[in-house]
Amino acid sequence: MKVRDKLFLAMAALVVFMAAVFLTLSEGYVEHLFQQYAWAARQGQIRQWVQLLAYYYEENGSSWNGVDRFIAAMINQQGPGRKGLGPLRFVLLDSENRVVAAFGVGPGLPADGEEWRVPVVSGGRTVGTLRVYDRSVEGLNRIEDTVLRSMRVATVAGVAATAGVALLTGAWLSRRITRPLQQLIEATRRIRDGDLRPRLPTDARDEFGQVARAFNDMAAQLEKVEEMRRHLMADVAHELRTPLTIIQGQLELIQQGVKPAGPETLLPIQDEVMRLTRLVGDLHQLSLAEAGRLPLEKRPTDLVPLLNRLVDNFRVEAEAKGVELALTAPETAVSFVDPHRITQVFVNLIGNALRYSPAGGKVDVSVAEVPGEVKVVVSDTGPGIAPEHLPHIFDRFFRTDEARSRDAGGTGLGLAIAKEFVEAHGGRIEAASTPGKGASFTVTLPAVSSG
Ligand code: ADP
Repeated sequence: MKVRDKLFLAMAALVVFMAAVFLTLSEGYVEHLFQQYAWAARQGQIRQWVQLLAYYYEENGSSWNGVDRFIAAMINQQGPGRKGLGPLRFVLLDSENRVVAAFGVGPGLPADGEEWRVPVVSGGRTVGTLRVYDRSVEGLNRIEDTVLRSMRVATVAGVAATAGVALLTGAWLSRRITRPLQQLIEATRRIRDGDLRPRLPTDARDEFGQVARAFNDMAAQLEKVEEMRRHLMADVAHELRTPLTIIQGQLELIQQGVKPAGPETLLPIQDEVMRLTRLVGDLHQLSLAEAGRLPLEKRPTDLVPLLNRLVDNFRVEAEAKGVELALTAPETAVSFVDPHRITQVFVNLIGNALRYSPAGGKVDVSVAEVPGEVKVVVSDTGPGIAPEHLPHIFDRFFRTDEARSRDAGGTGLGLAIAKEFVEAHGGRIEAASTPGKGASFTVTLPAVSSG
């Protein structure tokens, strides 16, 4: 069913419901009003009867015997058609609720139509009850019927008129409500078909405005991701081209017999194959981390012995470069991490620091425990990073100096991987640098209290 039809049905149902409630309540009220009016009109007559009956009871030696004859006599005395004691219909009950006399009702109590109960009091004691059934004040019932009938007619007319208004309002409202929905459906279809440009008007201040804004944010995010994906494809293609060109060139030389297939010809090919393998491996790790599907075997890990081993492994390389490599650490610094992934992070950071430090430089790795966290800082005395490059340092394939990085064998993915891995552990990584004096990378990881 269309939203428009649903809206109309809901409004029509509401109108009918309100009319039914109104009719029920007002009929009850009008009836009550007429009853009250009838009571007011009959009150005097009933009182008169009650007094007469009490008088009879006292005079008859506190007994109702023969009261029906007394009643008949009283009515005859008034004469038919005269205002006074007739034409009430009533039943007289004694103090034990037995019927002692009836007038105009038959011998028993009628099952329905009971209207008023008036006690008959004699000497301060209730000696009987007068149940009065007849409330037909001259013409009153007719008036009541007329009033109720015209009320019903008015209500039905009102329902018809209001239903007409509801129909018009429903049509107008549904057009207002469904227009933004139509636009949303159209825009969603275009996005599904690959066109990420459609945006919705956001001037409405209601929920539709909110939906439109959320939709636009989503579309913008999709466009950004799509652009990143396109850039990544271009970057990957670019990164693959250089080693593949070198391999192809070398192989052609061998094929043409220009170079022999000796170890010195095959070595550059092997280098490039290794480079490609590393690149593919790095890309795989990065894509896993970015998709949030990096398998992590987290456990409480003391970072101090882990870094000690790492620094020892790098020592040979550092000495060969003439760079001093030092570790400053407390006794223990336990963090809840996957040791293999975290080793990868520090291999990338210490490797970079050594790579960019000139001979005579110094690479410092320091560990500090701050409340709830473990901080590891890797700093060097290399050329540092220019301030305009700092915000992009963790981007994929970012290199400040492409040629040099390529010579040094970097893929431009080391820092991107480090960032993704650290963040997958709920940690942070930050870079700081004074150009010309060196760079420092701070990794903050959640600590496991040793106590
Ligand atoms: P790569 O594999 O090329 O080193 P990274 O992602 O590790 O890629 O680093 C990206 C770029 O950041 C590097 O090419 C280099 O220009 C710069 N960089 C990284 N570490 C340092 C450092 N310690 N000192 C100066 N520049 C650095």
